[in-house]
This record gives sequence, structure tokens and C-alpha cells, in this order.
Amino acid sequence: MAPLRIAVVGSGPAGAFCAQILTEDTDHEVRVDVFERLPTPFGLVRYGVAPDHQKIKSIVASLTEIFENPSVRFLGNVTVGSDITMDELRAHYDAVILASGAPLDRRLGTPGEDLSGVVAARNFVSWYSGHPDATFDTSVLTAERAVVVGVGNVALDVARMLVRTPDELRRTDVPEHVIDTLAGHSVREVCVVGRRGPEHAKFTNKEFLELAEVEGADVIVSPDDLALSQEARAGTRPATARLLASLQKVADRRPQGRPRSIRFLFNRTPVEFVGDTSVSAVRLAHTTRPEVVEDLPTGLVLPAVGYRGAALSGVPFDDASGTIPHRDARVLDGERVLPGLYAVGWVKRGPSGVIGTNRLCASETTAALLADAPDLSGKGSGPAGVDALLRLRGVAVVDWSRWRAIEAAEVARGEATGRTRVKLYDRNEMLLAAGAAT
Ligand SMILES: Cc1cc2nc3c(=O)[nH]c(=O)nc-3n(C[C@H](O)[C@H](O)[C@H](O)COP(=O)(O)OP(=O)(O)OC[C@H]3O[C@@H](n4cnc5c(N)ncnc54)[C@H](O)[C@@H]3O)c2cc1C
Repeated sequence: MAPLRIAVVGSGPAGAFCAQILTEDTDHEVRVDVFERLPTPFGLVRYGVAPDHQKIKSIVASLTEIFENPSVRFLGNVTVGSDITMDELRAHYDAVILASGAPLDRRLGTPGEDLSGVVAARNFVSWYSGHPDATFDTSVLTAERAVVVGVGNVALDVARMLVRTPDELRRTDVPEHVIDTLAGHSVREVCVVGRRGPEHAKFTNKEFLELAEVEGADVIVSPDDLALSQEARAGTRPATARLLASLQKVADRRPQGRPRSIRFLFNRTPVEFVGDTSVSAVRLAHTTRPEVVEDLPTGLVLPAVGYRGAALSGVPFDDASGTIPHRDARVLDGERVLPGLYAVGWVKRGPSGVIGTNRLCASETTAALLADAPDLSGKGSGPAGVDALLRLRGVAVVDWSRWRAIEAAEVARGEATGRTRVKLYDRNEMLLAAGAAT
């Protein structure tokens, strides 16, 4: 039987794990082409996971092995939907797996959300991660107080990055202009606001302990916010109990006079972002005492309340959940399964879970695809037709060896500045380094 030819849209962990599982399957011979709109692979592992989380980023070594398998091709700098259409992919491959992630922001729906100075955390994350499409306006960093809305791990990443010292940042791969800007910004206090009590915080104890270790900032937790009822305390899970104990430890200690601080404000929710054209304060209502409303002056609000999937042209999309509708990973158009079309990762489940969660998700998706293999085999006319179309359209495809050239340029830039590696962040510069500039 001829090998199955599979296209994967998106080179984040979900797409990469699918490529790995499919090409390691012993019952089927499978070739996988992974299409990626950026010149760089790995999705949010490169552009989401915080730069100071080098241990987590080391997953890149395992993801690299997946792409170096001769049965897997990386086609970077190719946007599915414009450089090549979904119909074209479906015509040339036996099946298509959608692994396009969640590139948009979930909105809060709070009045004043569109004021300048209210900037989705994703925007800031993309900027410090060197995403080529980042649009973060650094002038908002003239604010003395920043307010991060949300108490998940991303909220803590953002708060931590705002207070990291230049020395700490130089141990990461963030671009030099990011270090310069973060070294000189005016933010002295970062308030992290959570709608509910600390027992409902979504960040992990590990993330919180790490925050408490940053060199340049005091972490401040009010003992009042930790006053849980006996009942609530008795019902907590061990992980929550550990987090509460860590929060209590920090609440009990005196601030050490560090230049910056991170202050937690639990049981408060923003009811309005106040200002004419730019935000000047966040109006917070106390969720346990609704009669108490306070204005917290600020020029920078970073809502960190979740990412959101984007519709792909030619693929059904559920706007309410921001995901692709599916049954056991098979994409649905209403109640009808669209043959040969599968979803995986954040675009399938929504933006939750850690990198490893996408492996389980990829297992489900690839199991569905392989179960359908007898019906899929020979459906597509072969990837040569797609290569020809991309050539005809003048698309500067970044293949794996070209990505390796970008990596080498990043390591060289690091050596030149006494750092291990410095990310390229300008798309043209990446393409030049890749030798793929048109
Ligand atoms: C700020 C942040 C920090 C995080 N930190 C951690 C952490 O510390 N530890 C942890 O375990 N997890 C962390 N995560 C979660 C982890 O990053 C996700 O679980 C994972 O990246 C989701 O994988 P994915 O493949 O579904 O999506 P993504 O990683 O987003 O990959 C999707 C890819 O698809 C590409 N794409 C989109 N549309 C197209 C198109 N039309 N054509 C071609 N390509 C396209 C995108 O460019 C992207 O590369 C973090 C997430 C965020 C947002």
C-alpha cells in the first residue's frame, strides 16, 4: 500500500506530536508535511512559554527530533488559507490535521476594554518572546503601576517578566531591545487581580514560589485575602493547601525594600476601565463585599484571561467556544463528519492544559485518523502538486535546513553579545538568515 500522505497545519506541540505518533506507527507507512505560517517551528513553545522557563523550553530538543525524522517535512513561512488553500491541501493529501492553536484573545467584556493602555497579555507575551507579528506599543510602559487581570500561570509569567532585572533577562534568549525596554521602564508595582479567593487561583504553587524568588521585586499578599472560613480550608485539595501555605508565608513576611513589587489582590473584579482615551484607573468591585468599590490608578492593564482560537478559511468553526467542532477529533460540519479532516491541540480543546496535554490530545486525533486509514489511502494526489503551487506563487518556504540556519544566526548573535542565544524577531531578517528572502 502507498504511504499515507498527511498535512498538518501548525507546528506547535499538538501538530508536532501528531507527526511523531503517525510516523512511528508500525502498522502504517505515513509521511507528514507540517505547514507553519511563521518561518520558525514550535508555536507557543517559542512564543508563549516564558523565556526564563528554560527547563520547560528544553522540550524543543525532543520536538526537533520529530522534525528531523526523514518522514516529516517542515514547510515554514506558509500560511494555510492564503499561500495555499484548505481545498488545495485536501485535494493533495489523504488527510489534513488542523493544529493551528489559539492566536487571539478572550475578551473580558468590561466597559473601557478598548481604551489605550488596556493591552491583552498575549500582546506583551508576543513582544517579549520576539514574535515577528507582535504589535505591543512600548509607550504604555511609562505607567508606574501595571494591573494584570487574571490569576493563571500566564498572569504570573507577565508579572514576573515586568520585574525581572536586566541580568536575569540576559540569561534568556529575549531580543536585546526587549531587555533595554524592560530595564528602563517605569512600572514599579504590578497588581495581580483575581475575581475569587486564593483557594481558586489557577497558578501553581511552583509558579508562585518562583515569583517569590525574583531578585528585583517584593511579593505582597494581604493576610486579609487569606482569611478563609474553616469550611473552605477543610475542603481544599492538597495542591491548593500547599499554595495557600506558600501565600501565607509570603503574607507573613515583611517587604524587603526591593525596587519593584508584585501585589496580589484577590476577591476583586474589574467592573470598568476608567479613562477618556487612555486608561487612568481600574474600577474594582469586591466580590465578597459588593458594596465596596475602589479605583486603582494605573496606565497599563494587561488582561490575562485566556487565548482564543481563530477560524481557518474553509473549516467549520464554533465562534462561541473559539474551537473547531469535532467528534472524537473528526471535524464536524453540523452533524456531518468531514472525511479526512481532523483537529488537535488548542484549536480542538480550547486554550487549556500544559504541553504534555497536547500529547494525549494528539493520541486521540491520530488514533481516529489511523482507524479511518483504509478509507483515506490514495485520496490525495500527492504533495508534489502543493510544492509546485507554492513555487508558482513565489512563496519563500523555510524548510528544516533553513530553520537551522535561523537557529545558527541566533546562536551567533548570542555569542557576539556574551549570551547563549538571542532571538531574531524581524521576519525579513529571519528570511535573510534562512537564505529564503525573495
Ligand atoms: C503565555 C503562555 C505560556 C505558557 N507556558 C507554558 C508552560 O510554562 N508550560 C507548559 O507546559 N505549557 C505552557 N503553555 C501552554 C502551551 O504553550 C500550549 O499547551 C501549546 O503550545 C498548545 O499547542 P498547539 O500546538 O495547540 O498550539 P500552538 O503552540 O499555538 O501552535 C499552533 C501553530 O499553528 C500555527 N498556525 C496558525 N494558523 C496557521 C495557518 N493558517 N497556517 C499555518 N500555520 C498556522 C501558529 O503559527 C503556531 O505555530 C503556555 C501557553 C501560553 C499562552
